[in-house]
Amino acid sequence: MKFHVPRSRRRVNCEHIMDVYRREAPNAGLLLALTCICYWHSIYPCINDAVGSELRVTVEPTIVKPGEPFIISIVTTAHYEVHQLRASIRGYRPKFFQYGNMWFALAAVSSKTPQGHYPLYIKASVARDGEVHQWGTVMYITVSHRHFPTKHIRVSARKFRYTRRDATLYDRKRLNAAMATTASKPFWEGNFILPVRGKITTGFGVRRTVNGRPWNPHAGIDIAAPAGTPVAAANHGKVLLAEMLRTHGGTVVIDHGCNVFTIYIHLSAIYASVGQFVHKGDIIGAVGSTGLATGAHLHWTVRIGSIATDPLAWVRRAPQISTHS
Ligand SMILES: [Zn+2]
Repeated sequence: MKFHVPRSRRRVNCEHIMDVYRREAPNAGLLLALTCICYWHSIYPCINDAVGSELRVTVEPTIVKPGEPFIISIVTTAHYEVHQLRASIRGYRPKFFQYGNMWFALAAVSSKTPQGHYPLYIKASVARDGEVHQWGTVMYITVSHRHFPTKHIRVSARKFRYTRRDATLYDRKRLNAAMATTASKPFWEGNFILPVRGKITTGFGVRRTVNGRPWNPHAGIDIAAPAGTPVAAANHGKVLLAEMLRTHGGTVVIDHGCNVFTIYIHLSAIYASVGQFVHKGDIIGAVGSTGLATGAHLHWTVRIGSIATDPLAWVRRAPQISTHS
């Protein structure tokens, strides 16, 4: 549908409204209001369709398991300029990045998400010839079933003291402050690698209790390895945090760009520094059991913004952002 259609309708409808206004002067206010409502309802889908035909929205894949990433990409034609793009799925707002006439965002649903179809709302402010239009669409993401086992963990009273609210809050604050910034281009290339070779002792999303108390689902994977085993960067990126935290112990955070982060926890030694650019396979630390850990292992998390995703999904097939529209 061409954009001139709603414009011509608008002229006809406005003249019609003014005719009614002149003829029906006593009830003109009411008539005018009703006509405007009808007019808006008739014209809005046309504007939406007209803008929609100029925006190509794709979501890949549309069927995921809890914690698996997907990419939303929007390509605009030369006729429209995108001023703002917003999306939301289950309360999470994916962050968009721009490459020329292409916008994209990485997103995921958490491990707590039950099986079902979930709306992904996308809204845009677009401009053409100086005129700004609001546009919106809804797509659906199918989240398939995934069984997560439950694990009961016991730690010493001394370790458990670290889980006090202030220690946990301190760690969360440090991590969130570090991950408040991200590069606007993807640093990662190809699939991610496992930072350490070893047995996965606790998988992603495992439901947990610690000393009998309910705990958050496991936000990453635990890989058992002897203390001191080198830990590699899972992909290229910039180090955002490299320090000793309270419940996480020795921690490194790497920004892979576009709101994708990897977090390495319980390290006995840290060989990376904040601001350093590391390449896939570079040694950034050593396996340990610092913080709240039951033994020597690496806890590895991959996050999109605030959403913990399944690290093995990035090892099997990391989402690749194509900047060619
Ligand atoms: Zn863990």
